[in-house]
Amino acid sequence: MAQEPCQCSDCQRFYKHHDRLIREFPTFKQQQEMNWASIQSFRTLCTKVTDELQRELSERESNDNNSLEEKHISEKEISETLDELESVNAYLYSIEALMERIFDTKVSKNIESKFKEIANELAPDPLNMDRLILNRLFHQTPDSTDKENIS
Ligand SMILES: [Zn+2]
Repeated sequence: MAQEPCQCSDCQRFYKHHDRLIREFPTFKQQQEMNWASIQSFRTLCTKVTDELQRELSERESNDNNSLEEKHISEKEISETLDELESVNAYLYSIEALMERIFDTKVSKNIESKFKEIANELAPDPLNMDRLILNRLFHQTPDSTDKENIS
């Protein structure tokens, strides 16, 4: 049974990002640096938001004045989000540790040329099987929905 690539809007967005990252970062070193920056920026942003939410929560707890109640985020939502962000930050920290191991690897100029060559072949292909397999991670819709083409 031939595997049809899903064409839902989530998947199409993923294909676009995926190809762009191969086209714009076609060497081993560039992929290392880009992925490192991507993990770091995610962590920086999550950490900042966590700090801010913690500050807001403690501010509310120490303030009996009801005048702050017009805020759109409830205390319940803040504490639930803080719990989730705490897990996310822990996962990102683990990924970062693994990324450091990946950074230990260096490849020669000749191998980098190979990377560029393969990147060239991969990026324009809209039906790349490796990408389709990867995208299952992000795919939200169940298998039964087939391809619902949202265009
Ligand atoms: Zn899909």
